Amino acid sequence: MARRKTVFVDSDILVIGGGMAGCGATYESRYWGRDLKVVCVEKANIERSGAVAQGLYAINCYMGMQWGENQPEDHVRYARNDLMGLVREDLGYDIARHVDATVHKFEEWGLPIMRDPKTGRYQREGKWQIMIHGESYKPIVAEAARKAATQVYNRIMVTHLLMDKTKPNRVAGAVGFNVRTGDFHVFRAKAVIVSAGGASHIFKPRAAGEGMGRTWYAPWSSASAYALPILVGAKMTQMENRIVLTRFKDGYGPVGAYFLHLKTYTQNAYGEDYEAKWRDSIKALVGDYVDRHPVPTCLRNHAFLEEVKAGGGPIRMVTKEAFQDPHKETVGWENFLGMTIGQAVVWASQNIDPKHINPELTTSEPYVMGSHATCSGAWASGPEDYAPAEYQWGYNRMMTVEGLFGAGDTIGGTAHKFSSGSFTEGRIAGKAAVNYVNDLGSEQPQYNDAECEDLRKAIFQPLENYKLGRVEIVAGTVSPSYLLPLHGLQRLEKIMDEYVGGISSHYTTNEPMLTRGLELLGMLKEDMAHLGAEDLHQLQRAWELHHRVLASECVTQHTMFRQETRWPGYYYRADHPKLDDADWHCFTLSQYDRDSGKWAMEKAPVYHIVD
Ligand SMILES: Cc1cc2nc3c(=O)[nH]c(=O)nc-3n(C[C@H](O)[C@H](O)[C@H](O)COP(=O)(O)OP(=O)(O)OC[C@H]3O[C@@H](n4cnc5c(N)ncnc54)[C@H](O)[C@@H]3O)c2cc1C
Repeated sequence: MARRKTVFVDSDILVIGGGMAGCGATYESRYWGRDLKVVCVEKANIERSGAVAQGLYAINCYMGMQWGENQPEDHVRYARNDLMGLVREDLGYDIARHVDATVHKFEEWGLPIMRDPKTGRYQREGKWQIMIHGESYKPIVAEAARKAATQVYNRIMVTHLLMDKTKPNRVAGAVGFNVRTGDFHVFRAKAVIVSAGGASHIFKPRAAGEGMGRTWYAPWSSASAYALPILVGAKMTQMENRIVLTRFKDGYGPVGAYFLHLKTYTQNAYGEDYEAKWRDSIKALVGDYVDRHPVPTCLRNHAFLEEVKAGGGPIRMVTKEAFQDPHKETVGWENFLGMTIGQAVVWASQNIDPKHINPELTTSEPYVMGSHATCSGAWASGPEDYAPAEYQWGYNRMMTVEGLFGAGDTIGGTAHKFSSGSFTEGRIAGKAAVNYVNDLGSEQPQYNDAECEDLRKAIFQPLENYKLGRVEIVAGTVSPSYLLPLHGLQRLEKIMDEYVGGISSHYTTNEPMLTRGLELLGMLKEDMAHLGAEDLHQLQRAWELHHRVLASECVTQHTMFRQETRWPGYYYRADHPKLDDADWHCFTLSQYDRDSGKWAMEKAPVYHIVD
């Protein structure tokens, strides 16, 4: 094996992933831990990395408490309703009460936030959203993190966490490799904050082949946020709660601003309003959630899917009326320039001018994340002053592994935090991690050298596999000796799509399908010992695949465990087609045992703290 440089880095607090949550964690760790060594490690470059690099022009979580617009309790009620009753109200409240202060900091740091010229208040796009000039958002946030960090390491993909050899169930650091130089990195830390984003590309995307990179959630969100904690035995929650989005067809262009600003609306292929037609059948499945305002996201998806199945597709957004107004027409196009320029390109390439043609909508493939209208992620301890005793085992946002914290998409149970809430949760985790490190005093977790050496070999093994196997290439890139990361990814997406409720099965699954899905995932895991990587770029893809596969297994286990259909429109358990509050008004928890490869599942109670 080629000799590679090993770089050792010591830190008090290690932040993994420099997206919104990671930048918040780095900033706040420095604020409370003036003398601590705070290191942020990012697989891309924090200047532009993370899901916000897809582009956005609104901050989707702002209370507006200074103007009495909303209170934190209102946000908890909103998220609870949207998630059909199941959110960690303690965590959600904790974010909501601090998120305005975060947004004010963004403005102080130079983020242009639009204001209503008459009232002087931030310009609202919706009840929770305020309008920004998004282009400078991430660089401004990254600058705060860069100034706060002892050091930021860009271009390092973290592959594994390291555990303490002196105390069981305590984290001691992490390892990874530089995706440009191939150096092996060993990070020693007293506390680790995982903030590595959500997961796209675990279910087969609608756009395959030449359009493969086009997904709604960022293609670089590769499930590390889940796989890293899962591998060291941290408990996960609500991993079945994947999200499906209704978006403009083929470009995943956002629809929210069209509804809100342009007052557009949807129709079936025959020009009819279809949502009301499905109300009674939805009520039979989920009870009065369908009468709530706003109607939960998944239920609106459900009406859409039912209409298409009944032959009423394609569903279209009625833009022809709004686009006759030149101002609205400009707003409609600008909406994509800031967020999803690809949608404008798709329309241009398909001769769709929304002034003359009502564009089609479709539902996306499922994604796993913790910050949008969905709440998959790690099970975390809650705030000391607000969480019920059962949700507290130490420090705020600490997972069930000692010294291991999380924020943003990483943490489960807290939907609707979005970019500002993720940064805020990073701040909360950062402050708690500083307290943890201070309480640890001079005690230093110690990783196991032999384990570290084994990981070094395993991490670079795909390069060796390729070197040996390439002489056996039989056609194109196919060799009987290795599996390329792309081939492994396509196999994963097919398994998840067909057995765990993706697009090709109309988001429907059942116990026999999930059982088969798990068998096939097991075979894929076996074959992944033979992953081959031609270069460092493919090596990154290989480890992203490892992370995606483990997260997928977790999703499948959770989907099997929850024997109800709680979120029709996100997925369906055909063998348990209704919401079942008597048995399933609870959180699902999983824990992975890496020695046996087995999963343990349990239920945890839901506490309604806000009335
Ligand atoms: C299309 C789209 C539109 C959105 N629109 C809005 C909007 O209008 N308003 C709004 O407020 N929010 C919006 N969001 C949501 C917002 O982007 C997310 O809520 C937020 O970015 C989540 O923060 P995070 O830190 O958890 O993840 P991210 O910001 O995605 O950060 C994760 C970071 O971890 C890094 N990373 C991943 N794996 C590793 C690894 N193994 N090693 C090292 N680094 C790693 C990634 O490169 C990334 O930088 C949108 C998201 C998308 C995808």
